[in-house]
Amino acid sequence: MTQVECPACGSLPTGPMRRRGGGLYNHCPACATQWRPEGATFHNYNSDYFHNRAHNDTDSSVSRAKLQTFRRFWRTITSTEPSGPILEIGCSAGLALRAGLEAGLDVYGFDVTKDILPLVQANGVGPERVAVGNLADIPNRNYAVCAFFDSFEHVPEPGPFLDRLAEVLAPDCLLLMVLPMADTLSNHLLGGLWPHYLPDHWVHYTKKGLTTLLNARGFTLKHWFYPAKKVPAQMVRRHVAMRWPWAAKLVCGNASLWFNIGERGSLWKRTGRPFSGTPAK
Ligand SMILES: [Zn+2]
Repeated sequence: MTQVECPACGSLPTGPMRRRGGGLYNHCPACATQWRPEGATFHNYNSDYFHNRAHNDTDSSVSRAKLQTFRRFWRTITSTEPSGPILEIGCSAGLALRAGLEAGLDVYGFDVTKDILPLVQANGVGPERVAVGNLADIPNRNYAVCAFFDSFEHVPEPGPFLDRLAEVLAPDCLLLMVLPMADTLSNHLLGGLWPHYLPDHWVHYTKKGLTTLLNARGFTLKHWFYPAKKVPAQMVRRHVAMRWPWAAKLVCGNASLWFNIGERGSLWKRTGRPFSGTPAK
């Protein structure tokens, strides 16, 4: 499916498409969101996809680092004491669920592919906590929190997706997001070399675009935050290898650092009524 209008605000692109990291992107004249017009369908998420990202590596420096990262992300909401179940969309091989369960949270997951289930189980999370397939397959638990950790930039047709998702969320739910965004310093500095230009990232929002999209669905921004991640050299090597296989061997060593390039975290609260903006198609 081709996405002509800006997926965030519905504006039509006015300039030519720009080549970025091997793909051609439209740029929104109103909110500066970038998107690949042909990207509005779900990528082929299969066991190879998870393997390339080391998602199937359940006992490695990568998975240990991710667990530490997700513990940190969950602390964003544990300080607000959410009462009720939590839904994570695109469930990161179960690592975010495991980190949430260890923190005493009642977390559930949703993913588009059943290929995720063996990984979820390998990470110690019962498959009964994960719904796969379509949004209609998510049991309605009136979730108090919905989390997207590096998944919202994969979601085609985000407006209709959020509208359908809203049916299983509590009216006053929190929305917790971490995603790469186009209006970041690293994007401006690195241009086409920005590491988030990947085949499965079809859209990169901006603060303005994401705010328009979510305001139109009744979500009010609570705050942005810097989503520092624990990143081991092994993870950097795998990501570099996806874009530049020849360069992967240049990343040596086994050190880990807390940092993030090009992503923002944000926390939103649904007031139950849209109050501004034009809903994106
Ligand atoms: Zn826009």
